[in-house]
Formats: sequence, structure tokens, C-alpha cells
Amino acid sequence: MVTNNRSAASIAAQALGWIEPVTKAVVPPIHSSSTFIRDEDNQYRSGRVYARADNPSFDQAEAVLAALEQGAHAAVFASGMAAATAVFLALAPGDHVIAPTVMYWSLRNWLLGFATRWGLAVDLVDTSDLAAVRAALRPARTKLVWLETPANPLWTVSDIAAIAELAHANGARVAVDSTVAAAILTQPLTLGADFVMHSATKYLNGHSDLIAGALIAKADDEMWQRIKAIRAQNGAVLGAFEAWLLLRGMRTLVARVAWACRSAQRIAERLAANPNVAAVLYPGLPSFPGHAVARRQMQGGFGGMLSIRVHGGEAAAIATAARVELWKRATSLGGVESLIEHRASVEGANSPIPRDLLRLSVGLEDAEELVEDLETSLAAAHAAR
Ligand code: PLP
Repeated sequence: MVTNNRSAASIAAQALGWIEPVTKAVVPPIHSSSTFIRDEDNQYRSGRVYARADNPSFDQAEAVLAALEQGAHAAVFASGMAAATAVFLALAPGDHVIAPTVMYWSLRNWLLGFATRWGLAVDLVDTSDLAAVRAALRPARTKLVWLETPANPLWTVSDIAAIAELAHANGARVAVDSTVAAAILTQPLTLGADFVMHSATKYLNGHSDLIAGALIAKADDEMWQRIKAIRAQNGAVLGAFEAWLLLRGMRTLVARVAWACRSAQRIAERLAANPNVAAVLYPGLPSFPGHAVARRQMQGGFGGMLSIRVHGGEAAAIATAARVELWKRATSLGGVESLIEHRASVEGANSPIPRDLLRLSVGLEDAEELVEDLETSLAAAHAAR
């Protein structure tokens, strides 16, 4: 068994080196059983009762996630949303939470809709601004600061260590949606966060063929136990086959993310010099406002996600996306195929996202071909204006 102090590459490639004890297989079986045998003396010594609470197919994926994030415990969920909402549902009505103004839009909508009706007091602030976070903290009432860094789709960077210090001094916990940092570019728990969340649908699986979520906790405390109970009671549980697919995807995580980071950096630099592009939003560009914090808290690259704002507004952005051939016009991110999306169209009427913005998820194609495809499409969209 590979131990926890190996590098991320060794942990991920061998999925911690587990060998199936009966057959000696290097790939684990899929445990499809929904139920488990009770002992004759009425005990459940195996620790397994019913697969809505727990499933042996989760064990290895959860161990890999805990090792990569340097956490004490991990839990896989039916989706990223199921994982994220479990953290808020583990609080109590009346508690106050802080989250970023610009963040993954579905979770923002859930916070302003369901969570607010349920009784959470929600403040959305610019979490890249420490003074704004400090001002929003309500002594004794704020129980959670939710961060997403880099955050969808402006890739805003928040300083996890500084915010954890502020939050903890006020008795609040910190949870980080680290989907874009992909478990290997940032370790929020080592910077002071209490929970890390991933949409495992994205880089962790990496092949656009499953929906899954994950939470990793720094400690096995009473909040973590509430989160685990919510997963079981609400049935927010991952399927056995999906857990197996996730484990398979994570074996190539380090190579895929390194490639995507390299290509994204190159594409960002090229597009920054393109006359049809008004701005490139990418933490790896020295001109990006969050670059200095990103350099401190990210290692190995600045991620595979960037956005561009195009001259000519919404019409030019949509016309550019309409013309690409290699990039695929679709939502989501973190897969092997590169995706392009007019983000405001997805988020709807009350979206804070600029109408001229295209979100790019850089996959594993040839970076030069990806740039050429975009440059050609940008030029053709502008010529047609
Ligand atoms: N967080 C981020 C940053 C995301 O991009 C997404 C999905 O796009 C989610 C959370 C939600 O994850 P899921 O779609 O797996 O529920």
C-alpha cells in the first residue's frame, strides 16, 4: 500500500496501491449490493448495513481523495451540488453564512432560494477583498464562510489562509469549492480550511461521463458526522458504478491537469495579444488581479479554466462560439475535450456575468490547434459585424 506521504502523482496513479485481497486484482470490483448480512447474534460486525449509508465501492475513492487533500476523512456524493448543499444543511436555521458574489451559479441560486427560505442568513461578498469578508462576519452568528477559488467564471482568487484566520477568530468554519484547483493545485485544508468540496464531475473524473461530488474534512467532528448523516438520510449517495468510474478517472488526474494547465497558460498568453479580445481572465497572467495570491496558494499551474471578454459584446461572443470547430459548445468543465460557453446565456436573467464573456475549459487537445481555432473564429466573427 502506498502511504499518505507519497506525491500526488504516486497516490493517484495507483489509487493508493490497493490490491483486491482475494483475487489480487489491481482494479477493485464494483460492489452493487444494496444490503449486507447481519450476524447471527444480531450484530453488524462488518460495519455495513445498507448501501444508502455506505458502500464498499466508495472506500478507495474516498481514501484517495483524503490523501490528495491531506484531510482526515472524505465522502463521495451523488453530485457536486449534493456535496455542497450537505455542508450548509449541516448548519442550523438562523445561522449566518458568507459566500462569494460571483461563484458557481447553481449554488448561489440555491443559497438565495432554498437555503434562505430554510432559515440561513446569507451574505454574498467579494471574497477576494479581505476587508469585505471582515466586515461581513457577524460575531457569534456567522457559522460558515464558503469560498470558491478560482471562482466561476471570472476565476477570482480568494486568499484561503487569510480568510481562515479571520473566520476562525469569529468562530466560523471555512469550506472551499476547490473544483477548479482539482485537488492537486491547492490544498485548502493545509491553508486552514475545514472542508474542501469538489464537483468530481469535473477534473477528478475528467471524462465527462459521470456526475459526482466529494467533501473532504480536516477533522472527524460533530459537523462532519452531521454531513455524513445528511448524505445517508437525504439519499445523496453515489452509485457503485460511478464510484468505480471516479476512481479510474483519478488515476490519470495529475497528468491530465498538468497538461491542461500548460495549455491554458499558453492559450491565455496568446489571446491576451489578440486584437479582438478585450480581456483575458486567467490567474496565471501576471496582470490578473488575483495573480499574487494564486502564486502563493497554487502549485504546479493555475488551472485549465479561463475566460475571455471579446470586443463587440454579446453578439460577437455568441458568433465566435458559433464558429469554433475543435472547441465544443457545451457547459461543464474539466473533461478531456475543450469546451466553450457563453456563460451569461446559461446563467439566465439575474446573472452578474458580463454579456461579452466566453468561458473556456481547456482539455487535452493540441494547444496550438486550440488557439488557431479560436483566433480564426474571433477574426471571422469580427469581420461579419
Ligand atoms: N462547483 C463548481 C465550481 C462547478 O463548476 C459545478 C458544476 O458545474 C458544481 C460545483 C456543481 O457540481 P455538479 O454539477 O457535479 O453537481
